[in-house]
Amino acid sequence: CGIVGYVGAQSALDVVIAGLKRLEYRGYDSAGVAVLADGGLAAAKKAGKLLNLEKELTDRPLPSGSTGIGHTRWATHGGPTDANAHPHLDNAGRVAVVHNGIIENFAALRAELAERGHDLASETDTEVVAHLLAEEFSSCGELAEAMRLVCRRLHGAFTLVAVHADEPDVVVGARRNSPLVVGVGDGEAFLASDVAAFIAHTRSAVELGQDQVVELRRDGVTVTDFDGAPADVRSYHVDWDL
Ligand code: GLU
Repeated sequence: CGIVGYVGAQSALDVVIAGLKRLEYRGYDSAGVAVLADGGLAAAKKAGKLLNLEKELTDRPLPSGSTGIGHTRWATHGGPTDANAHPHLDNAGRVAVVHNGIIENFAALRAELAERGHDLASETDTEVVAHLLAEEFSSCGELAEAMRLVCRRLHGAFTLVAVHADEPDVVVGARRNSPLVVGVGDGEAFLASDVAAFIAHTRSAVELGQDQVVELRRDGVTVTDFDGAPADVRSYHVDWDL
């Protein structure tokens, strides 16, 4: 139900958890985070309140990194369990994805992936996206392009945000019929389902259009449609107060 992504110089975990707290008002049943650190990807997820996730992070700390994503889930497919909480990872544990919305054709995609030897660990519609991103990334070598290719195969409403351990300074987002806003800071960038998640850091925002993919780097953002055609990036100033 809430999504936050970050790339910059700060601790991604701190920024992401603080952002998720700002989105708590939307309601949720589980929460999770993933950070890129030391050439790998580390994730933690828990059913229940953010407090449960924070306790898990105290008991089993993640390595610190400056690229990360987070999620608060409102379950639609699969009960509110630790395994069904986001982020979802591919079998190699190199890609992590969080999702708001519903992937309507997930059953067909799941069957297809199982046939190709993927092990699916949850009951969610979301998990197929992690496996598909991993497959596309292994042939195109670029997360934004992998996201465009995957989105073209998805039906339904989705906000997707993903990271890949082989592209450690990149966060990629996509949206169709579900909101996603970009925050542009000085040497850092944010993604969230609502500007409330990042206005403590920047007031410069870009609203993603329908069927667009955004690639976030420390030095800026690139927006395209699902076919890769560049889109205009028009930023606006968020002037309301917390
Ligand atoms: N459909 C997804 C799930 O059930 C995402 C739910 C959400 O929007 O939080 O895991």
